[in-house]
Amino acid sequence: MKSSYKEAVDLEVLGCAARKAVAYLQNIRARRVAPDAAAVRDLDRLTGELPEDGSEPWKLIEILDRIGSPATVATAGGRYFGYVIGGALPAGVAASWLASAWDQNGALRAMSPVAAALEDAALGWIRELLGLPPASGGALVTGATMANFTCLAAARHSLLERAGWDVEKDGLFGAPPLSVVVGDEVHISVIKALGMLGLGRERLIRVPADRQGRIRPDKLPKLDSRTLICIQAGNVNTGAFDPAGEVCERAREAGAWVHVDGAFGLWAAASPRYRHLTHGFDEADSWATDAHKWANVGYDCGIAMVRRPQALQAAMAVGAAYIQPGTQREPSYYAPEMSRRARGVELWAALQSLGRSGIADLIERTCAHARRFAEGLREAGYRILNDVVINQVLVSFGSAGRTRSVIERLQREGTCWCAGTEWQGQVAMRISVSSWATTAADVEASLAAMRSIAAEVSESPSALKNNNS
Ligand SMILES: *Cc1c(COP(=O)(O)O)cnc(C)c1O
Repeated sequence: MKSSYKEAVDLEVLGCAARKAVAYLQNIRARRVAPDAAAVRDLDRLTGELPEDGSEPWKLIEILDRIGSPATVATAGGRYFGYVIGGALPAGVAASWLASAWDQNGALRAMSPVAAALEDAALGWIRELLGLPPASGGALVTGATMANFTCLAAARHSLLERAGWDVEKDGLFGAPPLSVVVGDEVHISVIKALGMLGLGRERLIRVPADRQGRIRPDKLPKLDSRTLICIQAGNVNTGAFDPAGEVCERAREAGAWVHVDGAFGLWAAASPRYRHLTHGFDEADSWATDAHKWANVGYDCGIAMVRRPQALQAAMAVGAAYIQPGTQREPSYYAPEMSRRARGVELWAALQSLGRSGIADLIERTCAHARRFAEGLREAGYRILNDVVINQVLVSFGSAGRTRSVIERLQREGTCWCAGTEWQGQVAMRISVSSWATTAADVEASLAAMRSIAAEVSESPSALKNNNS
């Protein structure tokens, strides 16, 4: 029969992709971290016009691997330290393959009982790991930007509801004004989320931050029951934690809403050794975090949690005749999306594969690697700009020009990859150790590359003049 013959051929493509993926990951340590220019140029071969006729699926996988794989950035290896990016754990990757084959829509329980059940379970574990209140609840979304958005929508609902305004029904035109307070080192994604919610990107009270980027509670404005205050657990540059206890106490007295951007830093709570850094954050009203950063789950896996899940539901749930909610939690009632992939499957598998002790170990190991980076660079005479409290290190190699030049050469050389940043007016290289795959040998090899490249770059006056802008 022709149809069953075709089915067999089509399904073989899955095995083909799995073999290519395994080979890719097996070789990842041997290759450079950023792709070379030739590999990137070769991508043109994939981007021509859409052909009139279809191709055999296995041919597509073959060409994707041949041309696409060399043009990837090896974030799944152990020597990628750019931004704050983890490496996907094998258990999560494998589970996501299976979940892709299942092709489940995670919107409603009736569409996928398994997606809903695993999302429920994973959210419960995360609530415990991060030390959040037992009654809190939320949803899986695409990333921390959307998690910030989702939480802030719940905040907007609650604050305006208390002021006698139904924002979902009547919108923001004519609504009682809310004040929004952020620390001066707020992450741009919070600003973006505020803009998307009609709260304004610039209609903010910015509170000064200290040298580590922590909001200064002595500089807080007067808070009231129409104030939304955003704090952070883990500054994207320094890894510093805002003084949550103090802020939350002040906010509670005033009836303000405290939102926490804890994209990666909140995971410190999963380690007995680092838990103290997250002290007081459980007193907030909402929390945004990512599982695709420090928890090493594949993209995209953001998490929005709210102390009173009813506030989130009020902001997100919509009804329609064709939607028949059951008596249990319906995932899309807590999320901006309706149709959504079953990302809980991957999260479930990644958390199960590590267990509590494995997660604590991942946090502690990556922090130890970060301390080693700081120590090795300090020994070589370079300045560390932050207190290395968790997995983030900021290093200056001297002038802005020299630091930029070291970063650019290091990225080109290929042993490892770090991004540049500016920290309170100083150009720095940022090292974020966020991957389960990073070993002590990876750290030493990367340190050696950093030191030898920095030694080659001299502090020339012309470099200073050209780059110190
Ligand atoms: C990465 C990050 C975000 C944004 O997260 P995405 O998952 O990229 O949307 C927000 N806040 C902080 C502190 C971050 O580190």
